[in-house]
Amino acid sequence: TDPALIRNFCIIAHIDHGKSTLADRMLQITGVVDDRAMRAQYLDRMDIERERGITIKSQAVRLPWDDHVLNMIDTPGHVDFTYEVSRSLQACEGAILLVDAAQGIEAQTLANLYLAMNADLHIIPVLNKIDLPAAQPEKFAEELAGLIGCDPSDVLKVSGKTGEGVRELLDHVVATVPAPVGDADAAARALIFDSVYDTYRGVVTYVRVVDGHLGKRERILMMSTDATHETLEIGVISPEPKPADLGLGVGEVGYLITGVKDVRQSRVGDTVTSAAKPAGDMLAGYEHPKPMVFSGLYPIDGDEYPELREALDKLQLNDAALVYEPETSAALGFGFRVGFLGLLHMEIVRERLEREFGLSLISTAPNVIYRVVMEDGKELTVTNPSEFPTGGKIAQVFEPVTKSTILAPSEFIGAIMEICQGRRGQLLGMDYLSEDRVEIRYTLPLGEIIFDFFDQLKSRTRGYASLDYEPAGEQESDLVKVDILLQGEPVDAFSAIVHKDKAYAYGVDMAKKLRELIPRQQFEVPIQAAIGARVIARENIRAIRKDVLAKCYGGDISRKRKLLEKQKEGKKRMKMVGRVEVPQEAFVAALSTD
Ligand code: GDP
Ligand code: MG
Repeated sequence: TDPALIRNFCIIAHIDHGKSTLADRMLQITGVVDDRAMRAQYLDRMDIERERGITIKSQAVRLPWDDHVLNMIDTPGHVDFTYEVSRSLQACEGAILLVDAAQGIEAQTLANLYLAMNADLHIIPVLNKIDLPAAQPEKFAEELAGLIGCDPSDVLKVSGKTGEGVRELLDHVVATVPAPVGDADAAARALIFDSVYDTYRGVVTYVRVVDGHLGKRERILMMSTDATHETLEIGVISPEPKPADLGLGVGEVGYLITGVKDVRQSRVGDTVTSAAKPAGDMLAGYEHPKPMVFSGLYPIDGDEYPELREALDKLQLNDAALVYEPETSAALGFGFRVGFLGLLHMEIVRERLEREFGLSLISTAPNVIYRVVMEDGKELTVTNPSEFPTGGKIAQVFEPVTKSTILAPSEFIGAIMEICQGRRGQLLGMDYLSEDRVEIRYTLPLGEIIFDFFDQLKSRTRGYASLDYEPAGEQESDLVKVDILLQGEPVDAFSAIVHKDKAYAYGVDMAKKLRELIPRQQFEVPIQAAIGARVIARENIRAIRKDVLAKCYGGDISRKRKLLEKQKEGKKRMKMVGRVEVPQEAFVAALSTD
């Protein structure tokens, strides 16, 4: 295709403002999906996405429109998936910034707008859901125009649900988004912006061609690894993969398959070039995102450890933000310490590992990264609380902080400030976006916001507040490690690093939880929470003589045997902590973030 006829754009917005629904209408209006095959959130291809109603992966689709080729990318809105969005932006020249006409600008509207501006994209402001009775298109057109610096009449108004205004929007994309620019005669250079492992076809790599041309049955070179492959298939997604025998030229977005099964051969951010005529320089690629939250992942069945490793390797291909390394826990055995971009990311990874790879997993309580400076000047990076040094030689502990932005109606300012103060926040500033809508900025410790902060914020503002945050360095804090001991033995999986003021509450809570979860043993089991040698909470599990046969009256031998066997089986799922038998479920339940 002539690059002058190509328009590459993405749809960005706060979560739930209607990106995927608008994408649906575009698929339908351009005739790529016919009415019979249409279903809501067509591009949310994963079951988890459909069940939760959220987009996790960006999806690129080629749409024919008015003699032009549009490559549209639907993106996720949640803050944990910003990395997905920023990669998509680099494959585009334009972005539709979508705002719910009944809600107005939210925290991720701003965050995504700034990303798009940094990527130098042409921005099209659009109000969505104008069919809603509660829509206030005039008011929010003004708000949005004020933010972008355009005239309110330049804000387009659509309904992704009814399709109103969507044709005009597509025309507007053709008229205003710049065509891709590249050198058609230069050596081929294509940026890998995503990839996925397919059981039947091996690695499928998604690329945007910047210069030159990539063809079928061509030897290609992955520039960062120097690996060469042959393209068995090359094509476009519209909306299913369609082989393109002519290959992909300047500005085109599509996929290629080399039949390679080794997942490490296709790295997101790498440049693909022709092996016969390789390009001199790689494309800029992506800055690798830093994991913000860590947790241990262990197979419930210890034999599944190799499967877990393989599953992580494959999933990483499709989730470039995922990092992991092996670790062992005295309580849980062999597993991995895994880094995530946030708690939703963590939940999704675990769910995908369980669903797509059939594993059963335990994850330990999540924590952020700490930097510990010892009195002798040595430094430690702690991603697992059990690595936190014990003993009195710690000089300083640093924790990551964020710059957090909260948007809400101004009546909630008091409530928001109260929550932030209670979480060691420092007010950075406050701006009115309109008469009744404020943007409040705080420095907040990451460890204070990733857990239940957002839930609390939502409930104190009746759902009206939205939150976005970005890393903003670290600060020194009064942090301690709380250990949980069973009969005097520390259980590594339950250790946590918490602020001094919250240590007591954590200890009491965990000890209580465990007293309820761990069955009585033949001897008394003390549960203690301790900071170093100082015990801060204590519970007791009283001894019991457990006789499984007591319930059996009469001489039904087969029933007795069954019971004994059941008990034996149950034992297999027990972990020993010192002399104490802890059922697997107790770990799972105690570690679940409720
Ligand atoms: P996304 O998170 O931005 O991808 O948002 P979705 O497309 O998943 O939509 C979120 C919710 O808003 C869904 O319940 C949609 O049915 C609804 N929605 C999306 N667009 C419209 C619209 O134009 N009008 C109305 N009334 N509802 C819409
Ligand atoms: Mg979506």
